[in-house]
Amino acid sequence: MEGNILTLIYIIASVTFILGLKKLSNPAKARNGNLIAAAGMTLAILGTIFLYKDENGNTLHNYGWIFAGIIIGAIIGTLAANKVKMTAMPEMVSMFNGMGGACAALISIVEFNHLSETFTVPGWSEVPWNLTGGMIGHTLTIYAGCLIGTVSFAGSMIAWGKLNGKIKDFSFKGQHILNLVVLAAILVLIVYLLFDLNPANYKLFYLIPLLSIVYGVLFVFPIGGADMPVVISLLNSFTGVAAACGGFLYNNKVMLTGGILVGAAGTLLTILMCKAMNRSLKNVLIGNFGGSNATSSQSKTGGNYKEISVSDAAVAMAYARKVMIVPGYGLAVAQAQHACHELEKLLEEKGVEVKYAIHPVAGRMPGHMNVLLAEADVNYEKLLEMEQANDEFKTTDVVLILGANDVVNPAAKTDPSSPIYGMPILEVEEAKMVIVNKRSMKPGYAGIENQLFYQPKTSMLFGDAKNVLQQLISEVKNL
Ligand code: NDP
Repeated sequence: MEGNILTLIYIIASVTFILGLKKLSNPAKARNGNLIAAAGMTLAILGTIFLYKDENGNTLHNYGWIFAGIIIGAIIGTLAANKVKMTAMPEMVSMFNGMGGACAALISIVEFNHLSETFTVPGWSEVPWNLTGGMIGHTLTIYAGCLIGTVSFAGSMIAWGKLNGKIKDFSFKGQHILNLVVLAAILVLIVYLLFDLNPANYKLFYLIPLLSIVYGVLFVFPIGGADMPVVISLLNSFTGVAAACGGFLYNNKVMLTGGILVGAAGTLLTILMCKAMNRSLKNVLIGNFGGSNATSSQSKTGGNYKEISVSDAAVAMAYARKVMIVPGYGLAVAQAQHACHELEKLLEEKGVEVKYAIHPVAGRMPGHMNVLLAEADVNYEKLLEMEQANDEFKTTDVVLILGANDVVNPAAKTDPSSPIYGMPILEVEEAKMVIVNKRSMKPGYAGIENQLFYQPKTSMLFGDAKNVLQQLISEVKNL
């Protein structure tokens, strides 16, 4: 009876995960989707704790430990989520993802310890779940969960440190070969232990998590700048697969479904991000791209640039037919989304058509700008995806760039030596006039110069995005 109820709970929870994911693809429904999936997960956890029975009819025990862990984790998670700034979200995602990977790896290690207890039983080779008794699938799942979970943990910790500036890009000659050698060593060890596990060699298993930590660290260390989102998304998919291995080990359907969904969603996002940044997945896998060499190849300064005053910028926009706003990381830093929405409404009152051009990697996480603008109640219909926006720039009078840099850098199209060469960008220079708001001439995240700032149709409007927008608002009001 309890078993049937638990199965039903698992089905309901799995459906909520799928519904939640579906809703996450739409900014208006994303919050709701998150709550639905979280409710399903809560149900699945409580169901497992109170209704699970193993084949011998034993229920879970250690309730004190279980609930202490849940309460401590919930407090830390809630405090961290409330405290985190939107701009620091990718770091937090990395950290939480790393914890998921570590959990999955620990499950594998605990299960391996159970397996190895067999070796202390006299006549261990007769024990039915020894490998010779057809346990290859079970053992392979343990090894795979340990490898993937540990790589995800170590890689995510490095990504976390790099995103918050505590860890710098680091690479050396032959690093990619070393990466491949370490990965090959882990795989050889896994194959060896898979077919010849015995009391004399079973401790070699612990080399798998150790080498996987080395691989995870080496894999993420050299990556930086423009390619970080791909890595975070890839590590996220690793955690999903590692959790699915845990689902196999415990024959737990909801863990399996959840893991597969995270793995698949992370993989799809990785592919989409690769496309958006024009990087091949192979490059990502051997840790061979972007970052540390980004600053070196691009230091040409473009000569003279011209500035525009706030009042001239206000006039240009108020008398335009169509204005396109390009939000970027600086808008998020300045928390200028509400001021931006206010300017948009004012311009519309003056008969100007206002839209937003959203680059898929603007800001510091996928969907960053959508989340930010949704917070300020900007109508979703006004948010144009990159392809749509690029079609509309030709008919745009004024483009107002607010704290964006790399995503509008024409070097991605024109300079084959640029580290962002090939990345699709917002082609703002197609518009009649471009106003760029930032605080200085410093480069953006990829650390490279932007020739757009020196083009004849571009004017620089220096200052903090929120301050500048507030000044623009009062100027437009006075027109
Ligand atoms: P960039 O990081 O390229 O540029 C942001 C610009 O904002 C800077 O040049 C900075 O110039 C300016 N800025 C900073 N603070 C303020 C402020 N208070 N007011 C006004 N301007 C400000 O941002 P983009 O959005 O164009 O590009 C995103 C970059 O981040 C890409 O390289 C992308 O690959 C990368 N990335 C994206 C992720 C994602 O998933 N979206 C995740 C991780 C990285 P100044 O200092 O002169 O003010």
